[in-house]
Amino acid sequence: MRIRRYLDFTNRPRWAKVLDGILSQNIQEKYHVRDKKSAINTFLQTWKPSMKGEGVTTPPRMIKMIKTAKKYGVTFDPTYMDQETRRQLPIWYHLGTAGGRRNENEQWAICQRQNHGIGSVGEMERYVNEPMPTSHKRRRNCACVRCKAHRDNGCENPIACKARGKKRLDDLPPRWNPSTKVEPLHH
Ligand SMILES: [Zn+2]
Ligand SMILES: [Zn+2]
Repeated sequence: MRIRRYLDFTNRPRWAKVLDGILSQNIQEKYHVRDKKSAINTFLQTWKPSMKGEGVTTPPRMIKMIKTAKKYGVTFDPTYMDQETRRQLPIWYHLGTAGGRRNENEQWAICQRQNHGIGSVGEMERYVNEPMPTSHKRRRNCACVRCKAHRDNGCENPIACKARGKKRLDDLPPRWNPSTKVEPLHH
């Protein structure tokens, strides 16, 4: 079944990635997605694509497939997620924070995507835990090589930026958080 291949995230066919790209161009306005880089996959994030109306460019057969998936209640099932899978999920519009208010259009979120290349939980984890040189100081104008490299990339305040990233990770509910130990399943 096509939808099964689309949702196989360990071995994604090329057309599935193409479809993700198309869907990210057809996001429902109510999700206020301003930065296309933040929209990675509708099944792994909280935003939904437009299915009808003027300007929708998703091919009809693809819309049919998505609708079929919805009809059969296909959703990403986080029950058996190991820590590595949690790391692979998009950090933006994260499924585990669906109820909370999130602003992915804030300046620091844009900085993390554009200047630090962060898309997934694991990438955010690596960013906030990156080893810092001994010369590093917790100051906005710290002159260490890492802070300097971040500023050269366009990050205005590496200390504050990283602190926001750490908070975002800490706010992930335990079952979605890569730092939470995965309990063995009970039978
Ligand atoms: Zn520094
Ligand atoms: Zn930054």
